[in-house]
Amino acid sequence: MKIIVTGVPGVGKSTIMNGVCENLNYRVVNFGDIMLEKAKELGIKNRDEIRKLPSEKQRELQKMAGEYLGTLDNIIIDTHMSIKTPSGFLPGLPEWVLMAIRPSMLVLIEADPENIENRRKKDSTRYRDDEGSKGIEMHQNMNRYFAAACSVITGATVVIIKNEEGKVNEAVELLSRMIKNG
Ligand code: ATP
Ligand code: AMP
Ligand code: MG
Repeated sequence: MKIIVTGVPGVGKSTIMNGVCENLNYRVVNFGDIMLEKAKELGIKNRDEIRKLPSEKQRELQKMAGEYLGTLDNIIIDTHMSIKTPSGFLPGLPEWVLMAIRPSMLVLIEADPENIENRRKKDSTRYRDDEGSKGIEMHQNMNRYFAAACSVITGATVVIIKNEEGKVNEAVELLSRMIKNG
């Protein structure tokens, strides 16, 4: 089975994934890691530069990553429903990526926009954009629309999990239970 976990930058996907893979027999694969490996050949040094590349280049890297992930099984993919780029929202899972991966479950991790804004500010390991809490709210809404479209194309279920401030363990437990139930 393949599960796709998404959410706006800084919502806590990778933090939650660390906990979930301790509980389950799944390997977590980060979509951005696979794109970054290839992007380095273009002189990209860090993962937060990928979304600033021309959108055609991002689509190329994305296609390559999707096709690679299609060859794996029993994985949880840490990625994005949509990426905010200088030329608009890029779908994280266009049809050709979805059909390569064939996920069974699509997870949206969400949190209060103000909390996400603070998490971004406090995390000095990354170069996340300053969207403002209104921008984050809109991005989270957009992600729900993208998730609905992806669900209709694949038949995958959609799960929404709230990552409340200071309550990572609760989100990990809930998501682990949902995955165990299939
Ligand atoms: P990106 O898409 O940019 O990779 P992400 O969704 O993977 O972001 P993380 O790197 O997991 O986000 O988390 C961002 C920051 O938020 C980290 O510093 C993390 O420790 C913190 N964080 C995650 N969950 C919570 C929570 N429930 N309460 C408080 N802080 C949290
Ligand atoms: P992350 O560490 O999850 O933020 O991933 C790093 C970067 O990889 C993101 O900021 C995006 O630019 C890119 N990325 C991740 N997943 C996708 C995807 N499904 N489609 C396009 N770009 C992606
Ligand atoms: Mg992450």
